[in-house]
Amino acid sequence: MDNINTDVRTKAKKIAVILRKGNPNPKTELIYKNEYELAVSVILSAQTTDKKVNQVTPKLFKRYPTWEKLSKADILDVQQLIGQVNFYKGKSERLVKAGQLVVSKFKGTLPRSFGGLMEIPGVARKSANVIMQEAWGVAEGIVVDTHIARVSNRLGLTSKKTPEKIEEDLMNVIPKKYWRNFSGSAVFHGRYTCTARNPKCGECTLNEICPSAFKF
Ligand code: SF4
Repeated sequence: MDNINTDVRTKAKKIAVILRKGNPNPKTELIYKNEYELAVSVILSAQTTDKKVNQVTPKLFKRYPTWEKLSKADILDVQQLIGQVNFYKGKSERLVKAGQLVVSKFKGTLPRSFGGLMEIPGVARKSANVIMQEAWGVAEGIVVDTHIARVSNRLGLTSKKTPEKIEEDLMNVIPKKYWRNFSGSAVFHGRYTCTARNPKCGECTLNEICPSAFKF
């Protein structure tokens, strides 16, 4: 382990501890009642706000309350129900295909493994991480969305731009026991404090160790 990595690791742990102190049990802002609803909401949330997803899901879940029902849905009907979310056409198709796969391959129940989740249409690494952590409290990796990407770069934990590379860097410097909390608390940090424009550095609990503090 070289000195630079040691320094970044020390800093990364400090950041993870501070974020966990400020937000010990972060939960997604998606509204769901069971694993099915969680997975569907997560698929819908790609490049869409949780708020927007929560606006369309009550009607969607009323009409299609299970993987089984979703697997037989008419794609045009799903499109009408989720029309307010970004990329609703592609997402409608993936949702129905997801239903078909879960029914045919996993007996209508969400698979409990990272690899199994990644087989589901519409579920990539970020979504699989969110589902594993939210539904079962298991962190196989670190969720990297647009907020965590920005916050991690500003904090000097990575200089990478793609989610996969950023996740790799974060997993390398943040101790595994913090992965779950960091995934949730860093999202909230980016959403409400380290915002894309005008980050609130003055009230940020990380401003003493952040190389980007007060530079905006
Ligand atoms: S000090 Fe400012 S730039 Fe750094 S993490 Fe906090 S809000 Fe973001």
